[in-house]
Parts: sequence; structure tokens; C-alpha cells
Amino acid sequence: MNEPHPSQTAKGSPLFEAIASQIEQDGPISVAKYIGLALGDADHGYYHKQDPFGADGDFTTAPEISGLFGEMCGLYLAHMADLCALGQPAILELGPGRGSLMADMRHVWSQIMPQLAKGPVHLVETSPTLRQRQKDRLAPADLYWHKDLDDLPATPIFGIANEFFDALPIDQAIWRDGQNGTAGSWRHRLVGLIDGRLGFVDGAPLSKAEIDIWHLASQPTPADGNIAEYCAMADAYVAKLATHIASYGGACLVIDYGRDGSIGDSLQAVANHQPVDVFHQPGDADLSHWVDFSALRRTATNCGARLVGPVTQGDFLQAIGIAQRTEAVTKLADAETRRGLYAAVDRLVSSQQMGSAFKVAMILPSGTGLPPALQLPMIKDQQHDRHGASQS
Ligand code: SAH
Repeated sequence: MNEPHPSQTAKGSPLFEAIASQIEQDGPISVAKYIGLALGDADHGYYHKQDPFGADGDFTTAPEISGLFGEMCGLYLAHMADLCALGQPAILELGPGRGSLMADMRHVWSQIMPQLAKGPVHLVETSPTLRQRQKDRLAPADLYWHKDLDDLPATPIFGIANEFFDALPIDQAIWRDGQNGTAGSWRHRLVGLIDGRLGFVDGAPLSKAEIDIWHLASQPTPADGNIAEYCAMADAYVAKLATHIASYGGACLVIDYGRDGSIGDSLQAVANHQPVDVFHQPGDADLSHWVDFSALRRTATNCGARLVGPVTQGDFLQAIGIAQRTEAVTKLADAETRRGLYAAVDRLVSSQQMGSAFKVAMILPSGTGLPPALQLPMIKDQQHDRHGASQS
């Protein structure tokens, strides 16, 4: 399956040239390396060049749709902090984007739980452009930026990650049936140059250790061309988070589109709110993938913590009272504002929009009690794109 993708026209862009010359020099690169460069290259990477959010950007995330999203998440985390009664915790957000979610959560905390609003805020963000946006938005909070989770304070942490894990680079493997009676194998799927354009090529077979880490041995027998995904960075972030929460206490909400199981080929690219080829203008399109919550759960458990959920975002928000809250805040609003708010909430909750593609889970210390709204049965899963629209 070494044909080039049909639609790459990336020649000439500075990042394409850098990637192509690296491949010419060293051979094909991993999918994770390609995504890492396309999103994170210091000069031309997608998250470093621009603010991609909102109507003028490439995609709109839940906190940018309505402040009610952050308000409900803030209420939920305040409730968890209250249950844990742990004194002065630190606050954490992974991938804060424009800072809107943290601003909305802090607004709620300032009203109902001032000790959370007073706590230091730790932000995991690589993009200098977005760090500046966050600083402007969240002043005068006591802010600390991190590239990873190595130096968190030794205190309980209450955290959130909305659309963070989907943006981390994944690797892919492709199943190849054996020829003439030989056994088939999972092979690394790499990015190479085919007739001067970027395209997928097969790499070496996965080692026994890699088969274990990717959790492929227990999968049903694959068919030729099936794709498997593994996100080493997600594994690393969850391991540190879970180890911290197991040692010091706290809780971290993880909200993302994804499934409670392995997914197949979920890599997707979006530019100007439209799906594009994954090799389209590297650095100009957002690349993301579906999060495999079962992989996050395995890691959390291995580190002495647990991951509860996922439930759908629609069920979660309904269970914690978004409808009642919407009614309360629209009481004094004029008709147009009311219509706008109801439309925004529908976008967050309805299963035709973001409500069932997006899932909510939480990392907690080990134990048996289930937090409210995360023990709901999951509705039947469908394939959705990043904005939640069902794909047939
Ligand atoms: N949570 C925000 C933004 C989601 S987009 C919202 O819901 O609107 C993903 C965010 O993660 C961006 O802020 C991006 O810069 C950040 N990010 C992406 N890759 C990262 C990495 N490897 N390490 C740290 N932050 C990263």
C-alpha cells in the first residue's frame, strides 16, 4: 500500500522542505515524528504559528462555544475538592488553549470556593503564542507553565484536560498478511517520500515488546491493511499524572473525542473548519486523533490510580445540571441571548453534535467509590468527526 496520497500539494512550504530533506537524509520518519513537526516545530508548527481556535480559526472547542462548559466543569471539580477536603490544592490544566476554560472555572470558584480560586495554577503548554494568550486571559492568577509534569508541587492536584490528548502525536502500525504461507505481522507505518511527495510507507515489524506496549496481542485477528495506533506521549502524561494523584490525592478530568477501546486509523486533519488530507500543507492544518480511553485507563491503573468513565459529554453535562443552570442564567436574558445560549448548550450536549463523540473520564486515587455523573452506562458509540457530526 505504498501509493502516495492523492491530494498532497505541500511542496514549497518551509516545513514541507524541512521534513522532506530530513527524510532524504535519514529515511522515512514515524507518524508521531511527522505530527510532532507539523504541530510543534518551533518556527513553522501549527500551534506555534497561530491561535487556531474559534470562528476565525480551524476549529471551535467546547470552552469557546459557551462559558457554561467551564462553569459546569468548575462546579464539578469544586465538588470533588470538597469531598476530598485536602486543604490547599494546586490547579492544573493540560493544553489550556486561549485560557477560556480556566478563566470560567476560576470565576465559579471565586464565588463558591475561594481557596480553589486562590491556588497556584499550573499550565502544561508548549506554544509561546498560546502561553502569552493564557497570561493575558488569566492575570492576575499565580501562573506556572510546564512543558511536562516533572516538577508539579507535592500537593493534591485538581486538573482538567480538554482536547489535549487528541493533539499529542500518535504512532501507527499496519497489519500485513503473510505471503506464501508465512505469518502476517504488524509493521510500523512511516512517512516517506513517494515521487517527491509525502506519503505512507511500511517500516520494520513491531518487536515483541512493542506488540505488548501497543496492546495488540489480544486484539482479534486483523485483516491486511488494518491500522493500529499508540500514543506514547499520552502514556507518559497519564503515568505522571496518575502517579502524582496516587501519592498526593486530587482528581483530573479528561475530556476528548474518543472511544473506550482501540480505534483503527483515526488520524485526521482540519484546516479552515474543513477536513483535509493529513499531508496537506504541514504546519497549516490541525492534526488530531481519537483518544483511546482504555489505553489511558491501563496506564492509570498500572501507576496505582484509576480512571473512571468514560461517559458521553452529553450525559455528563446533563447529569451535573447544565439544563437547570441554562434555565437559571437565561431567566433575565433577552430573547436573542436566550436563543444563543440554548443553541450553544445544544451543541455541547446533543448527540448529533458534540454530545456523544466527546467523552468524559476522571483520574482518581485508587479506591471503590464512584464520583457522581461518571457511572452512567455508555450509549452506543458511533464514528464522528471532531465537531461531532455523525459519519455514515
Ligand atoms: N483546552 C483548550 C485547547 C485545546 S487544543 C480548549 O479546549 O480550547 C490543544 C492544546 O494543547 C493547545 O493549547 C496546544 O498548544 C497544547 N498542546 C499541544 N501539544 C502539546 C504538547 N505536546 N505539550 C503541551 N501542550 C500541548
